[in-house]
Amino acid sequence: MATETFEFQVEARQLLQMMIHSIYSNKDVFLRELISNASDALDKLRLEALRDDAPGADVSDLHIALEADPRARTLTVRDNGIGMSRDEVVELIGTIANSGTAAFLRELKEAGDGAAAEGLIGQFGVGFYSSFMVAEEVTLLTRRAGEKQGTRWTSSGEGTYTVETVDDAPQGTSILLRLKPEDAEDQLHDYTSPWKLREIVKRYSDFITWPIRMVPRPADSAGAGETGEAADDAETAEDGESGAAPAEPETLNSMKALWARSRDEVTDDEYHELYKHISHDWSDPLETIRLQAEGTFEYQALLFIPSHAPQDLFLQGYKRGVQLYVKRVFIMDDCEALMPPYLRFVKGVVDAADLSLNVSREILQQDRQIQLMHRRLAKKVLSTVKDMMSAHPERYATFWHEFGRVVKEGLLSDAENRDAILGVSSFATTHDAEQPTTLAQYVERMKEGQEHIYYLTGESRQAIENSPHMEAFRDRGVEVLLLTDPVDEVWVDTAPAFDGKEFRSVAKGDVDLGTKEEKEAADTEREKQREEFAGVLAWMTERLSDHVKEVRLSSRLTVSPACVVSDTYDATPALENLYRAMGQEIPRAKRILELNPKHPLVTALNRTHGERPDDPALAETAELVHNLALLAEGSEPTDPARFVKLMSDRLERTL
Ligand code: ADP
Repeated sequence: MATETFEFQVEARQLLQMMIHSIYSNKDVFLRELISNASDALDKLRLEALRDDAPGADVSDLHIALEADPRARTLTVRDNGIGMSRDEVVELIGTIANSGTAAFLRELKEAGDGAAAEGLIGQFGVGFYSSFMVAEEVTLLTRRAGEKQGTRWTSSGEGTYTVETVDDAPQGTSILLRLKPEDAEDQLHDYTSPWKLREIVKRYSDFITWPIRMVPRPADSAGAGETGEAADDAETAEDGESGAAPAEPETLNSMKALWARSRDEVTDDEYHELYKHISHDWSDPLETIRLQAEGTFEYQALLFIPSHAPQDLFLQGYKRGVQLYVKRVFIMDDCEALMPPYLRFVKGVVDAADLSLNVSREILQQDRQIQLMHRRLAKKVLSTVKDMMSAHPERYATFWHEFGRVVKEGLLSDAENRDAILGVSSFATTHDAEQPTTLAQYVERMKEGQEHIYYLTGESRQAIENSPHMEAFRDRGVEVLLLTDPVDEVWVDTAPAFDGKEFRSVAKGDVDLGTKEEKEAADTEREKQREEFAGVLAWMTERLSDHVKEVRLSSRLTVSPACVVSDTYDATPALENLYRAMGQEIPRAKRILELNPKHPLVTALNRTHGERPDDPALAETAELVHNLALLAEGSEPTDPARFVKLMSDRLERTL
């Protein structure tokens, strides 16, 4: 049958190069990856069989086999699972589906040196391609369960691969690795040694629920390089001649589901390996969470918080959710019904005792028991993070840095847990240039007489700190939270309070800072100023009525002449823009222009208005002051061309 040659997709080629040149130092993990894929393939076949979707498939003895040949220096990893069709081989093995790959490769290139690159590879995980860390050539032979013909795929990982259709492939997938000769003499990397294989399986794959068997080679192994010749394990077992391989097939793993074992029986390392199997991440998780529910609806959950955010966390189509098992039988990946979208980075396993094996995603979404589990799991994750804050502050800092933006989405979508989410949130603050603050810490630092939690939203920390709205707060040393994530714009509008303290934008409504006495003194002074400026304020309000709803005196400015603020319950311009971007038309709310009564420009404006109310320069100045206030907060002038003209005329007169 004709052999076709294909080129690897660009990203795949780049990754393969890194594997060939062993950018990752722990080569042993290739076996974990192949076993993980094999285990998934067996899960899928069992599931199809359960649903009667796999006519003609043999599900009598599902297992994974390792077959080493020290003389030929080959290792074969075989499963009799779902297999792949020819098209699937080309699509799945020749390309990389992960949507974050391009960004990841860019980062890798920038990382340059070995240690950083290794860390990145670890975060990404490479699956099947990791076999090129140990093999100079890989031959994959596969047949989709129920189909007649199989497919052989071969490559040395250098740019191209060949695909050919074959008639006599056994069901499932076998992967024959022709091991790199340079590893032959190296005890640590001899992947034909039964001792070595036993050790790797124990360390990385013990919990795999399918038997992983080490099988002996038939006597005439030398020269029989063909993969997938269905060497029947049991029958050829009496021959113990082939190197150090055992005469009987030996099952290497205990197959015990970790979540079903008692807590003190399982080590952290074992949990971490399960995490890596589920998540395709090569680095350890930040936190392991166990949950055991007894009673009428029994289930066990083993959840993991990763130590870094995946590349595609914010992309459409990100696969969220945990794995669902029913009484140790794998039912589905990415079960969304069990985890809210704002905890979509959580990985893990939920094993329920009383669900039908035939349950579908649609049914799950409606199921009351599932909804209860969902609530319980979300609460458990949040309480774990809460505990982490006090017990492991550094771990918490990593958590928030990686996932804070996602978690804050829950402030909008999960009203029931809003307080819990606020409780585990941190925000950048004027109190500290580097470290974010929790709300509890903020409340503890609040000044005498301060009633609200103050914040300002904006594009960047710098833009916010330079905003005129901050002046009085800076002057008085009142702490302000600096909120720069788009989602902040929205949640601050809906979250009423934390610990009884309302959230208040420093760019909204009136400001009254200070102690009771200070506030009273300020009120008296303001009363006086209001009389003094009454004329000019009324006149400007009228003059600028197309753009602002009111012109008033400000108590938040110390340096700038003017600023624009939103009314207490109006949406800010940024929020309006956000809604528009989401396709929601909302009317633009007119804002309020505030003047600083102590600023010379403002006092001069007042004086001129008293003396020559009809001076045309006065009207222009009013317009300019409004536009300067817009510019100061990063907004556009109402009419940029006109603003430039007025401004340059004025400047010209000063020369
Ligand atoms: P990942 O496992 O992270 O998806 P891999 O490169 O390891 O990435 O594998 C790509 C895909 O190839 C898998 O998602 C699976 O669909 C398919 N595949 C790999 N190994 C096997 C196997 N032993 N049996 C069936 N399909 C497999």
